[in-house]
Amino acid sequence: AAKHGGRGAFRFFSRELLTAAEDRRQLEEDLHDAINRGEFVLHYQPIVQCSTHAVTGAEALIRWNHPEQGQISPSLFIPIAEESALIRRIGDWVLRTACMEAAQWPRALRVAVNISPTHFSDPGFPASVTQALAASGLDPDRLELEITEGVFLAQGDEADARFKTLKALGVRLALDDFGTGYSSLGYLKSAPFDKIKIDQSFVKGATQTGSRNRAIIAAIVALAQALEMETTAEGIETHDQLDLMRELGVSQVQGYIYSRPLQPEAFLDGARQTDWGIEPEGPACQRQD
Ligand code: C2E
Ligand code: MG
Ligand code: MG
Ligand code: MG
Repeated sequence: AAKHGGRGAFRFFSRELLTAAEDRRQLEEDLHDAINRGEFVLHYQPIVQCSTHAVTGAEALIRWNHPEQGQISPSLFIPIAEESALIRRIGDWVLRTACMEAAQWPRALRVAVNISPTHFSDPGFPASVTQALAASGLDPDRLELEITEGVFLAQGDEADARFKTLKALGVRLALDDFGTGYSSLGYLKSAPFDKIKIDQSFVKGATQTGSRNRAIIAAIVALAQALEMETTAEGIETHDQLDLMRELGVSQVQGYIYSRPLQPEAFLDGARQTDWGIEPEGPACQRQD
């Protein structure tokens, strides 16, 4: 459109691009100071056992309260952080904070932490995990590291050695967003994952008759079971989706039908209950993210 719109249109187009680049640079600059200014917070989304509605743990999801722009989504700022060394600083903060907060929970629920491929591949990463565990006193079995298939691209053959090192620390490994990246089934052969997370893109539309997504989820569950891994389905929003996940034998689900990601205090309130179970579309769903 820029080409055919004449000079004026082209100028307008490039000015827009320039603004986008400036916004991005500004955001990157702001990101540098965000940790020191205490602008990050972790929200926790309950993970629920399908068979019992019992909460087994939570996924820590970072939130950035930007002083001028309000809350900025991790889908926007994590990719920017990943292009610089910032991702290691932010990732270390997330690890430390999640372990510290989980260690204060009144029950031994698991905490799942998202790890960027560049952070995971960093030579100092295992030491960061060790430090976060030592500083918090959290039982390593309660820490689950969520990594994506991008790890295999970033690390290639060295990924195997890294998995072994981490398993030796006693932490759990989950393969996040399974099937949406550059996965090869060959990775599952040797990588010691405890869990596969079924991406919400497969859940969408899975309840329609003759759905291919349904067949894909069934295949992922069969594969996981054969390899003795658990499965967690993400983005469950409706009763139909929940029923289908139970029918297909998915171990746990996570989604708005049970609860949105909760502020730390709201999550603590739930964790104080001895047998924390939540009804689908229970009160926790009404809480604001
Ligand atoms: P993810 O790890 O796949 O996290 C799941 C995302 O799905 C979260 O988005 C969560 O809020 C959202 N979600 C949960 N239930 C539902 C539902 O029922 N419906 C819908 N539509 N969405 C649901 P969020 O918090 O915006 O995070 C987006 C992505 O940003 C995450 O995807 C993860 O890749 C990344 N991220 C979040 N926190 C961190 C972090 O601390 N470190 C790193 N490296 N990445 C993070
Ligand atoms: Mg995740
Ligand atoms: Mg995911
Ligand atoms: Mg996802």
